[in-house]
Amino acid sequence: MKTKFPIERFAHIETPFYYYDVELLKKTIDTVQKEAAKHNGFNVHYAIKANFNPRLLAIIAASGLGADCVSGGEVAAALKAGVSPGHIVFAGVGKTDKEIALSLDAGIFCFNVESIPEIDAIDTLAAERGVVAQVAIRVNPNIGAHTHANITTGLAENKFGVNYEQLDEVINTIESKNNVKLIGLHFHIGSQILVMDDFIALCGRVNELQTMLHETRGLVLPHINVGGGLGIRYDAPDKYNVPDFALYFDTYAQHLKLFPGQQVHFELGRSIVAQCGSLITRATYIKSGTCKKFIIVDAGMNDLVRPALYSAYHRIENLSSHKADEVYDVVGPICESSDVFCKDRKIPQTHRGDIMAIRSAGAYGEAMAFGYNCRPLPKSVLSTEFE
Ligand SMILES: *Cc1c(COP(=O)(O)O)cnc(C)c1O
Repeated sequence: MKTKFPIERFAHIETPFYYYDVELLKKTIDTVQKEAAKHNGFNVHYAIKANFNPRLLAIIAASGLGADCVSGGEVAAALKAGVSPGHIVFAGVGKTDKEIALSLDAGIFCFNVESIPEIDAIDTLAAERGVVAQVAIRVNPNIGAHTHANITTGLAENKFGVNYEQLDEVINTIESKNNVKLIGLHFHIGSQILVMDDFIALCGRVNELQTMLHETRGLVLPHINVGGGLGIRYDAPDKYNVPDFALYFDTYAQHLKLFPGQQVHFELGRSIVAQCGSLITRATYIKSGTCKKFIIVDAGMNDLVRPALYSAYHRIENLSSHKADEVYDVVGPICESSDVFCKDRKIPQTHRGDIMAIRSAGAYGEAMAFGYNCRPLPKSVLSTEFE
């Protein structure tokens, strides 16, 4: 299934905008659910931060996936979209009282806690409400995933999680309190991970830790949350439009040693929404420099920041031209030299007004858009609007 762009419809829509292939999103969700269901006790939460477009969230919530949130705003968005509170987990190093309160009032499933002062705050707010908050400890497994340095999260030097040496103290703290209950362990090693070895290494750490807690404290927790991070093929968005969820879940099933009855939770963001989205933009000018040719498009780094922020690769297609390739830099209109989508890329000969698709932009695209240069936030168009 190749994403088909309704180019004749696009001709009447102001660019730039995000275009979402709903059929592909649904196929991706179906595949995740089908593959996870092959294993006992596997639960999938969609990581809302990858894309919180309310129309996509409604589709995702209706499918029955849970939600992984990293702010009170995301908890509210998940609830509004119709995710059941019992399937919402809330992570993040800096949860404020307000965010904790709204999550307690909603009765979310679990807080993934990252420090002792945070546990104190949750306990106090839960006590005021006469409730007991379920918490999982986010453990920093000290694993460097083979991905961009800015998106690894599981190294000792990262701000995330609790290090091994502090674990006993954190567990003692939770056990000493009346309004928090320890139900699990949480891990998340990073994003855009395509090498299963990284997930296998994480399984090794989880197994070690579980053995240690069992031996030293007689502790077996009912929930193991291994986070997200499964990558997608930015180089081939049509050929690999649905990520290899079978391999991903099989890897965990094979390498994670579970105690009887333990549930496993996954928090997948990018792998669920990336391939269904494209940023649609028009070529405003073709400019010849001294040694380069530039396609200046009407989308900028404010609409899709990944190339500027992480040197991320996105395929760029000219939907209007089938001429022979030429070599271009594709750049935006923003007053920053980093406002570049690609350099020295072969693209069919392009003319002013041509419509282009920046592919695999469904994750961390629209969600990270901002208004620099007084630019409006990009709009979104769903394929179902044309049916
Ligand atoms: C960002 C994040 C995820 C999702 O990561 P993806 O790479 O998009 O799958 C999952 N869990 C936590 C805690 C996160 O911060």
